[in-house]
Amino acid sequence: MKIAAISTHMLRSSFTYGAEGGVGGNLHLRGMDTLAIRVETDTGIVGWGEGFGFTLSETTRHAMDKLVAPVALGMDAADIAGTMKALARRFHNFGRNGAVTFALGGLDIALWDIAAKAAGKPLYALLGGAKRDRVPAYASLLRYGEPELVARNTADAVRRGYRHIKLHETKLECIQAARDNAPPEVPLMLDINCFHDTVADAVRFCHAVHGKNVWWVEEPIWPPEAPGPIAAVRQHAGVGIAAGENLGSLAEFEAMAAAGSVDVMQPSVTKVGGVSALQAVGALATKHGLRCVPHSPYFGPGLLATLHFLAAAEREEPLEVYFADLACPPYPQMVPVDGFIRLPDAPGLGWEIDPAALAAAD
Ligand SMILES: [Mg+2]
Repeated sequence: MKIAAISTHMLRSSFTYGAEGGVGGNLHLRGMDTLAIRVETDTGIVGWGEGFGFTLSETTRHAMDKLVAPVALGMDAADIAGTMKALARRFHNFGRNGAVTFALGGLDIALWDIAAKAAGKPLYALLGGAKRDRVPAYASLLRYGEPELVARNTADAVRRGYRHIKLHETKLECIQAARDNAPPEVPLMLDINCFHDTVADAVRFCHAVHGKNVWWVEEPIWPPEAPGPIAAVRQHAGVGIAAGENLGSLAEFEAMAAAGSVDVMQPSVTKVGGVSALQAVGALATKHGLRCVPHSPYFGPGLLATLHFLAAAEREEPLEVYFADLACPPYPQMVPVDGFIRLPDAPGLGWEIDPAALAAAD
């Protein structure tokens, strides 16, 4: 079974997130681009992948169209490990992270979709079988930067049934506003996107949020890929530490594990190398007694692939769902109900991209 055709499709949608924008953080975003990657085999099976993401999507698309796709054509679609290793070696000197890696990850996701469709099974069946028929979802709120907005959107997330909430706030008054507007048993995750420059500042932040039912502090210190400083924070933090969305390879996760950097590993399927990498990082986390809770604030095949991974994981962990409503979501059926997303049961990723969204793609 050979790769016969690869094409890229930019799904574009406006979205809302419970604020008018204009303040800090990432509220400048107005549109959500999703790079969908279509792979067809010479046997006629079509699989879909997604390469990261947001305002980088066009760059990843260029890497896919101009660099990766011409080389991947004709390669073995059934030998995912062999094909992906050959491509990784071919392109390794263009960087082991960034747009080329994201394109490769998108291709890997599509090949897993194809493998599952060829087997006539949902993807989770190939990943060890579903351990549950629905996966909890956590609301990943954008950075609002103002306590009133954080309060309103936290309350809205709780009202929508979410039982776990992640913030991207760095100000304590914003974090307190969330705490005051969610039931005490709802854990908060605090993603501060490498905000601090020193271990001492990061540890001070961690101490300041003690007693607020915090599951983890995410990416507490700059830079995101250095295991040493994160480990130093973790040693004194007194709360769980999570990281990994900005790592580009399994080797970087191995370095984090060896350094004792994290309690929670967060591989991002559209960034780190697709479903294959997610599985490898998941096994690494298990070996070290760590949690593996992937990064997935996107809306396309990458989110759906992550749902399958979590369905098959031994330990129940929540799926990251970006707290934003797209006018044209790729998978309109993928909506949490009472804080859970039900699994699809059709072969492959199980749901097809909404025909209207695909027709409007460029
Ligand atoms: Mg993050």
